[in-house]
Amino acid sequence: MKLAKALKTGGEVDSWCTKCKMVLNHRIIAMLGPKPIKVECSTCMSHHNFRQFAPGAAPAKGAKLIGGSAPRPARVSSVTKLEQERREREQQWERAIAGKAMGDFKRYNVSATFEQGQLVRHTKFGDGVVTRILDANKVEVLFKDEPRTLAQGLQ
Ligand SMILES: [Zn+2]
Repeated sequence: MKLAKALKTGGEVDSWCTKCKMVLNHRIIAMLGPKPIKVECSTCMSHHNFRQFAPGAAPAKGAKLIGGSAPRPARVSSVTKLEQERREREQQWERAIAGKAMGDFKRYNVSATFEQGQLVRHTKFGDGVVTRILDANKVEVLFKDEPRTLAQGLQ
């Protein structure tokens, strides 16, 4: 389960891309209160309005809407939990990357396809490891700072 993090302009968020037709990692260009309104796709670099879900897709039951008024846990415990999660991810990343040679990394591009556990080198995000194959066109890659949803196998 992914904990909500504070969103800010210049930060990152998963959004529906109107061009890629997928929910992918985006950079926030403009915010309105706690909600991103304009985003840039990290895959195709297009600018468009923020949209948390695919058109017509109903949010999963219990899913937390960004900017919504769902009750949140006490601040202190959530910060500690986030921090702990971040540390665990960093350790996971370090274990995956440690002692690997340049040649062990596959250069990331949207038309390449990846396997779980594969090491990836991304021009923008650096070194990462594939933690999950989401579907034929989407993978989750854990980078040093955080996991990101990236496109794969696009023609
Ligand atoms: Zn895109």
